[in-house]
Amino acid sequence: MAPIPGSGLAKGLAVTLRTMTKKTVTAQYPEVQPELPPRSRGVIGLFEENCTVCMLCARECPDWCIYIDSHKETTPAATPGGRERSRNVLDRFAIDFSLCMYCGICIEVCPFDALFWSPEFEYAETDIHELTHERDKLRDWMWTVPAPPALDPGAEEPKEIAAARKAAEKLAAQQEQQEQQLEQQQAQQQEADQS
Ligand code: SF4
Ligand code: SF4
Repeated sequence: MAPIPGSGLAKGLAVTLRTMTKKTVTAQYPEVQPELPPRSRGVIGLFEENCTVCMLCARECPDWCIYIDSHKETTPAATPGGRERSRNVLDRFAIDFSLCMYCGICIEVCPFDALFWSPEFEYAETDIHELTHERDKLRDWMWTVPAPPALDPGAEEPKEIAAARKAAEKLAAQQEQQEQQLEQQQAQQQEADQS
């Protein structure tokens, strides 16, 4: 059957009218920043104070794009007759984001919570070498890591927080005891001065 003249135009106008009344879904990036989910994998931040240079992340990375250099330092024994202690000192920690496939294995395997996902994604470069982020840059990403979500109601307190809370309570109790002893001594001194 031959098409009715003008039916194509009518269909087009119908589509236009239909979409005109719908909410727009176009993302106006970069004028408007996208609202990313909290667990977005943008870039990896390094909290180097927690890193013990155990090398697990570098060994498990499927792309071999984590570069770590370190040296050993020996600290003398704390007590006479004690043993010297040696520890690894980090010299270099870098991630090549031109190779990284954002699998998150390094973050999962790190036993010391030294690596975190940040949702930041605006670090495109015109020179591929610039995509290797050295430790200072990885440290800067740490400041963009979102705070962890709140615990579920009734969830067990994390061990680290429980330990820190107990230590703070113990310290406060000791301080209170010392203040009471000081007050008692001052009161006794006043009594002795008066008599
Ligand atoms: S996210 Fe995956 S590929 Fe990227 S550095 Fe970590 S382990 Fe390697
Ligand atoms: S796994 Fe964690 S602690 Fe070990 S080297 Fe990597 S970042 Fe450092």
